[in-house]
Amino acid sequence: MSTRPVLRRTKIVATLGPATDKPGELERLIKAGVDVVRINMSHGEAQDHIDRAAKVREIANKVDRQVGILVDLQGPKIRIARFREGVVELMEGAKFALDSEWDPNEGDEHIVGLTYKELPNDVEPGDELLLDDGRLVLRVDSVEGTRVNTTVIVGGQLSNNKGINLRGGGLSASAITEKDKEDIKTAAVIGADYLALSFPRSAEDVEECRRLALEAGLNAGIVSKIERAEAVADDYTLDSIILASDAVMIARGDLGVEIGDAQLPAIQKKIIKRARQLNRVSITATQMMESMINNPIPTRAEVFDVANAVMDGTDAVMLSGETATGKFPALVVESMGRICKEAEKARITRESTHRIDESFAAIDETIAMATMYAANHFPGVRAIAALTESGNTALLMSRISSGIPIYAMTPHLETRRKVTLYRGVYPSTFEYGDEDDAALQNRVLETLKGYGVVASGDLVIMTRGAARGVLGGTNRMEIVKVP
Ligand code: PGA
Ligand code: MN
Repeated sequence: MSTRPVLRRTKIVATLGPATDKPGELERLIKAGVDVVRINMSHGEAQDHIDRAAKVREIANKVDRQVGILVDLQGPKIRIARFREGVVELMEGAKFALDSEWDPNEGDEHIVGLTYKELPNDVEPGDELLLDDGRLVLRVDSVEGTRVNTTVIVGGQLSNNKGINLRGGGLSASAITEKDKEDIKTAAVIGADYLALSFPRSAEDVEECRRLALEAGLNAGIVSKIERAEAVADDYTLDSIILASDAVMIARGDLGVEIGDAQLPAIQKKIIKRARQLNRVSITATQMMESMINNPIPTRAEVFDVANAVMDGTDAVMLSGETATGKFPALVVESMGRICKEAEKARITRESTHRIDESFAAIDETIAMATMYAANHFPGVRAIAALTESGNTALLMSRISSGIPIYAMTPHLETRRKVTLYRGVYPSTFEYGDEDDAALQNRVLETLKGYGVVASGDLVIMTRGAARGVLGGTNRMEIVKVP
């Protein structure tokens, strides 16, 4: 028997930053197996982002890999302004005020400026404000005009521009800021495959983001970052945000601050499961390999975190500071990939009860589900070839857990880049010709043989539309033997 390469199914999203700007680093990162790069609009200038994106495209081309680009909007992250000395030490029990009218560069240990004018209207005495991802806690004593007076509950060092969250959520800041609107235009220049929306509260926020992107000429998949207490407060809101999006990110950093860190594991499992049920994609994010910012090996807890996210069924796992500012960007991608691959051997990641008692909504979905049922139950099947326009058939297939690779075979570059985020789906360049069925089949099998994933005697399940080039037209499934 020939040995076929075992492909990693779970995708890796890696954030770009100063560490990946170093000479040769981006190429090493891509070769290490990154599927999607994340450009974080919270830092840096538009031109730098455009340059980075161009470099990603250039290297991906050179090494003949598809790499998706995700542009992550900053959103209404509420931040304090700056301190005269850059940093202050807040003592437990001390009084400290936040004031949007205060000179943004003149903060001290008694008072600091604020970027967000609405804070006084959004808080009341007794509320708790969490600063710097929850490292410091302030209790609101009173509100006087533009000023919020607080007492320090948990003190510590506080430096410039740190983020503020309200425990329990409820800050009224709109999800899309003026800066975000500008950044959407930059994303359009970049030709981003995905656009991530920070802090959406509702499906309307997501729709607004999609509308602005289309207006800017950008037809990107919209990723909703689930990081507000309101977004997970009830099933209706969560479902409608998922449905309005192409993908959701379990943004554990901010979400953990808003709802409490102990709530995160259960919520992560719930969001991943629900996204799959609703035919949407999920990304698990933040601190997955945090210690590798400084160390060449992950902690055991990090190994478990990545593996558990894979077993929960996430499409992708994300790296933030680990690749953006860490010491070992390429190594952390390799380590993460290794953990994913091993976790994917677990039986629970290969079997599915998805939609077992449900009806299907469309012909292409029915074909996709039938394909996966056949692939998972017929041992000779080694690969799935989905001839697809938009990649939707491959997306539907990938909602079913399986060990069989799904090739999204398409002439469209945008589709090949979009599927970089789908678990178990691999992009393949495939032009449709005017050939007859036998010739087409032959070309599909030859392509897969070229990847080394099938050999003589293997079975391949092929799906396509009777009419070529029609969106949502998949209505055929056939099982063919590699000659
Ligand atoms: P951020 O989002 O890194 O943009 O803050 C992710 C998170 O909050 O976990
Ligand atoms: Mn966040």
